[in-house]
Amino acid sequence: MEWMEKKTLITAFVAQIIAKTNFSELDQIYLYNRILNLVNGFDETGDFSNKSLLELADLLVNGSKDELTAGQKDILKTELLNFLVPIPSEINRIFWDKYQQQGVNAALKYLYQLDQSSNYIKTAEISKNKYFRYQSDYGELEITINLSKPEKDPRDIARQQAVKATSYPQCQLCFTNEGYQGRAGYPARSNHRIIRFNLLDETWGLQYSPYAYFNEHCIFVDEHHQLMKIDQKTFSRLLAILDLFPGYFVGSNADLPIVGGSILSHEHFQGGRHVFAMDQATISQQIHFAGFDNVKAGILNWPMSVIRLAGKDKAAIVKLATKILNCWKEYTDEKVSVIASSNHQPHHTVTPIARKRADEYELDLVLRDNHCTKEYPAGVFHPHPDVQNIKQENIGLIEVMGLAILPPRLQKELAEVKKYLLNQPNQLADKHLQWTKDILQHSAEKITAENVADVIKQALGKTFVRVLEDAGVFKTDTNGQRAFADFVNYVNKQERS
Ligand SMILES: [Zn+2]
Repeated sequence: MEWMEKKTLITAFVAQIIAKTNFSELDQIYLYNRILNLVNGFDETGDFSNKSLLELADLLVNGSKDELTAGQKDILKTELLNFLVPIPSEINRIFWDKYQQQGVNAALKYLYQLDQSSNYIKTAEISKNKYFRYQSDYGELEITINLSKPEKDPRDIARQQAVKATSYPQCQLCFTNEGYQGRAGYPARSNHRIIRFNLLDETWGLQYSPYAYFNEHCIFVDEHHQLMKIDQKTFSRLLAILDLFPGYFVGSNADLPIVGGSILSHEHFQGGRHVFAMDQATISQQIHFAGFDNVKAGILNWPMSVIRLAGKDKAAIVKLATKILNCWKEYTDEKVSVIASSNHQPHHTVTPIARKRADEYELDLVLRDNHCTKEYPAGVFHPHPDVQNIKQENIGLIEVMGLAILPPRLQKELAEVKKYLLNQPNQLADKHLQWTKDILQHSAEKITAENVADVIKQALGKTFVRVLEDAGVFKTDTNGQRAFADFVNYVNKQERS
């Protein structure tokens, strides 16, 4: 069509949409007009042939004439890129056709690439995260400073206050986010799609995480908005997910505050294709559980307290995991400050993580205790006050496995630490003073402009080890390991399942 051969920003965008989707030439006018409307009539002539789809979307968003807030820009960009994504029924059909015909990895690859090219997965933002590895006694830990989430535009915060409180979508994990436009203070989800699957006769969804912490970071979501709960069903579901998506690990955050994740209100798991330090941790001590001869068991050489179960018999693993969980829920050992409950509040649960290794299932149970005392008001098994300058947030599933997610505030604060170490004028926050002095005191070599960045990385890594050790219920010293053995004996003595 002659008219479409005019070189403009929108025709360039339309041409790429047609090339990458089921839209055809016949849809050109329709697409042009829908997009023209979204960008308020903005278009400009020029040669845009060397621009990527995301670049074209940014040009359209920034050129549209209204003074848009950061949040509104994100909503508009998401709506533009939504033209790239098939409707939910279609994407589900394509995914499961590929799964049947080409295998699970081809299906996952299709979804992952589509989510990246439609900017549902925020690849550019994720690349801003700081990342390095730290060699510890427990293996090679990963440290990230999370800089991917954009800072809030004050105008969006003002708008958010003006908007009437709404409970739709009920939470950010609910299926009702699929295609949701977004609003001030709530993410744009017009390009969001959920792959439905049957999980032990219930409907669950598979989606990727927009701000991924590792390769193919995905979320498995219950169709219903209901509280997270760790029980026998959890273990059965985790192992069933491994059957469906065998290349992925899958784990659940704990179901209690302090030791759980940020969303306890909606049942969900996290998974992905990544090898964590904990995956590679060795067994420090084999355990035998009476009546479970076909389940291998052992305590991991790890700063947190982990029992690893392995074997081919799914039902036996689930049964033993449930027994261990139920025993842990009622187990108290005051000598090591392990308290099952107080004031009718339960304190004990587990963070479970499952993976397949060759033809065996592996299920790690990380024992958690969330009780607080006067000495440790944020939690006895939570990062202690002297390391909270680095990490005061919950130690969730991903960190349990050895990947630290440190808060964005550290980016600026560590710049002051650096100046202090180099004896330059600085505005070091009081909370970092002792930590920084300790670095100076323990540094084996003179701290210089050349080595200071590495010195800080080493200190962060060392602190993360401490954070994990604080979260471990049975410490790695002789006393703690003896207490761990006592718990294992307790489990073995119980007849109950
Ligand atoms: Zn929900």
